[in-house]
Amino acid sequence: MEIQITQDLVRKESITPNDAGCLQYIEDFLAERGFKNEILTYGRVKNLWSINRKSGPLLVFLGHVDVVPTGPVDQWDHDPFSGHDDGTYINGRGTGDMKGGIACFMSALSRINPDDLNFSLGFIITSDEEGPSRDGTVKVVEELLKREEVIDYCLIGEPSTIETVGDNIRIGRRGSINIELEVLGKQGHAAYPARVDNPIHRVVPFLDKLLAEVWDEGNEHFPPTSLQLTNISAGVGAHNVTPNNLNLKFNLRFSPQITGQEIQTRIEKFLGEENVKYNISFDLNAEPFYSNPKLFTDVVQKSIQKVQGFNTALSCSGGTSDGRFIAKTGCEIVELGPKFETIHKINERIEKGELERLTDIYHQILLNLNEETNI
Ligand SMILES: [Zn+2]
Repeated sequence: MEIQITQDLVRKESITPNDAGCLQYIEDFLAERGFKNEILTYGRVKNLWSINRKSGPLLVFLGHVDVVPTGPVDQWDHDPFSGHDDGTYINGRGTGDMKGGIACFMSALSRINPDDLNFSLGFIITSDEEGPSRDGTVKVVEELLKREEVIDYCLIGEPSTIETVGDNIRIGRRGSINIELEVLGKQGHAAYPARVDNPIHRVVPFLDKLLAEVWDEGNEHFPPTSLQLTNISAGVGAHNVTPNNLNLKFNLRFSPQITGQEIQTRIEKFLGEENVKYNISFDLNAEPFYSNPKLFTDVVQKSIQKVQGFNTALSCSGGTSDGRFIAKTGCEIVELGPKFETIHKINERIEKGELERLTDIYHQILLNLNEETNI
């Protein structure tokens, strides 16, 4: 069933923020199983909130149906929206990120009777994860908090696997901050150094400090905060003219051991120490989150052990995810999904065996959580 659902969803061309009928498809599936559906619309974005309410804790499955653009279609081996089955793989945009994960969870759900569950089961499915992420999960979570909905556990079907399904699960993600700096100087003739203020010379000691800085040490689950310079430009193109200004872009991926504010403070301190004249802008595009592993993480680890026979690694690697929004509810979060190897690339694809194993694991999670909540 998971293979069919993956193909059905991939054939809907839901380039962010369009859901292209994916949400209706999921709604119909859940309505048949007794779930109460609600579409929450913000701006142009539709989001599905669906729940099967029981006594006991609430597990939410979080996902997105929107996909990134295909890039040049003629470079794909198969039409990116065909869901082509080549015997081993289902091919297409969104197979890995993350229609496959949604399909597996739906299929796992069809193996049980939701009325037999000792816990409530909810779905938050957005179509604004790959875009600006302003009218998606963040807004749904705000609404649910307003309604005083208590979410205990959250399973995110984002790709997390490195080699074999379930070998890596995420319990947090780093934050991300984009910084644009303009160093101001005074243009002039290269032959008269006393009359120019060269922003290239000005930026060098600042960059030395910036690149030597140890922002933090990370922690057990997080690598240390890291910085990359991504763009630098200055100069008018002539050998004998010094530039008026220099533009620099850089990005930090940061652990919860430091805040965006602290990063900003340190950078401004370096600029002050070097007496640099500047304009700067900080765009905090993702706060980090960290979910302390407890009962639900244990349930997920045991389920993977049962299906795959190995111990899974807990990590906080990768880019950003909507986990950062649902973290605001204080729930315990685990991200578990297929391989991330081909996501966002030309020829994105997912192995059929991978879909089957992931469904087995999700099914086992439902069974194990049911046992844990059977009081
Ligand atoms: Zn994704």
